[in-house]
Amino acid sequence: MSSTWHILGAGSLGSLWACRLARAGKAVRLILRDPQRLAAYQAAGGLTLLEQDQATHFAIPAETAASGGPIHRLLLACKAYDAAPALARLAPRLADGAELVLLQNGLGSQDEVAEQVPHARCIFASSTEGAFREDDWRVRFAGHGFNWLGDPLNSGLPDWFDDLHEAGIPAEWTVDILTRLWRKLALNCAINPLTVLHDCHNGGLLEHLGEVDALCAELAELLRRCGQPEAAEDLGEEVQRVILATAANYSSMYQDVRHARRTELHYLLGHACRAAARHGLALPRLEQLRRRLVENLQARGLPSD
Ligand code: NAP
Repeated sequence: MSSTWHILGAGSLGSLWACRLARAGKAVRLILRDPQRLAAYQAAGGLTLLEQDQATHFAIPAETAASGGPIHRLLLACKAYDAAPALARLAPRLADGAELVLLQNGLGSQDEVAEQVPHARCIFASSTEGAFREDDWRVRFAGHGFNWLGDPLNSGLPDWFDDLHEAGIPAEWTVDILTRLWRKLALNCAINPLTVLHDCHNGGLLEHLGEVDALCAELAELLRRCGQPEAAEDLGEEVQRVILATAANYSSMYQDVRHARRTELHYLLGHACRAAARHGLALPRLEQLRRRLVENLQARGLPSD
């Protein structure tokens, strides 16, 4: 089986992974959106990774989904709402026994992808690393963090896992990936939408702790009902710790709205509300939060699904 890392999406996280794997001598190929993006990439001659005041250039080969050739290992590094449509174009190229690593935040997109490729192995990832695009093909590594990877259907460690350590990508294999993804989703639901509605950095929520606490109580109830009691433990305390530790930061949803970009709402708060409805669980504060956020996004002319 080929050991090439195909990476779909040369955005923030995709570029961060691609550059570190290439630096470690691993075979990497980028899959870009269309021939125009490929031409723009080729004109730039590769990706540039910015770490502190150091810029390193990597001439990583790239192609589009329409290029031929089998794919054995695919890192899907697009936004949650792009994951299933992007994969649909690649599915015919997936080799038997192909392995996919899904970097999307939130929940729901992983199942949309897995349904399309029942013969491939889908590995879910949860990342606390931070990166952003300073420009096309120029990505700044902004926050050191960690990556947890796991497969809810198969606890066996993939044979390429050491590639990550060799590339300096901090990662651990976990059998509890769904617990991690649910916990992160709950933290996101308790913080991010309120920062948009109150137009504030995370620390601004210290003036709205009653609202935050009430949301945490409903989120904890949802997690227990979804079979994730561990993800519910001390949720309110951790939310307050995160608010304090990141008081000066603006949440990812706040930044998306600020830059008039589509949010991943559907796979975060939207997923929580759909899961509650499926379980016949009434969570009025969470539902009201979703409605207020949808109205807020619509008033700005942004997609609200
Ligand atoms: P991003 O910077 O917006 O990059 C997404 C990339 O996907 C873009 O380069 C986009 O291409 C590409 N793309 C979309 N559809 C495509 C297609 N059909 N074919 C090829 N490429 C396609 O997003 P990101 O910040 O890396 O986020 C990726 C995921 O990681 C999200 O779920 C996010 O929540 C999560 N995450 C991000 C961070 C972070 O610090 N950035 C941290 C933790 C988790 P174009 O350039 O052509 O638009």
